[in-house]
Amino acid sequence: MHKFTVLIVEDEKSICDFTSRALVSHGYRASCASTGKEALSLASSLCPDIILLDLGLPDLDGMEIIHTVRTWSGTPIIVISARTQEEDKVHALDAGADDYLTKPFGIPELLARIRTSLRHSNKINGSNGLPPHPYRAKGLEIDFLKRSIAVNGQAIHLTPIEYKIVAFLAQNSGKVMTYSAVMNNVWGPYSESDNKILRVNMANIRRKLERNPAQPVYIFTEVGVGYRMADDEENL
Ligand code: CA
Repeated sequence: MHKFTVLIVEDEKSICDFTSRALVSHGYRASCASTGKEALSLASSLCPDIILLDLGLPDLDGMEIIHTVRTWSGTPIIVISARTQEEDKVHALDAGADDYLTKPFGIPELLARIRTSLRHSNKINGSNGLPPHPYRAKGLEIDFLKRSIAVNGQAIHLTPIEYKIVAFLAQNSGKVMTYSAVMNNVWGPYSESDNKILRVNMANIRRKLERNPAQPVYIFTEVGVGYRMADDEENL
């Protein structure tokens, strides 16, 4: 069986050991790097399937590592940040990180993030040209070919912009998408930097999709970062 290799970049030995043991017990291979330099060297020699990157390292800035790795590799990077680095999360995602976790995190959460990132990277690498299968979660169904959306069998009428937002989030289900990633995808690279128009559209989308828009079950807000859509049931 092919085991996925996880490179854990973390300068706190106890966290590294703990994470590594948990991953190995769940069928992954794990290697640790305690500095940025070591991380870059292992990222190229080890060819990991996924990188867990602590942003607070003694030698290099985590952002520098993301930029460097992204010049030659699409390996998914999950950023691990401390609460004091909240703003860095957005920069890290926009720089090419795939997702993030805030310390302290639980192992089930870590495993779920890893599975989601691996799935998305495999989808990109192994694209077989077939149309995407419909998205399904908790009674919500999106047919990307027909561009139709239904909740519990009832058709939902979205504007073209609203549809684009929902389809983009659904095609990246389980992953956080930053406000600017959604804005770029829907309105193009020259979209306004102000995300008010996105928030207005999201309020309308939730009114149409969610039973209780204040407690969404399909599209979650990651405060200050962006949105995360509930994982496609096929992937759970
Ligand atoms: Ca650290």
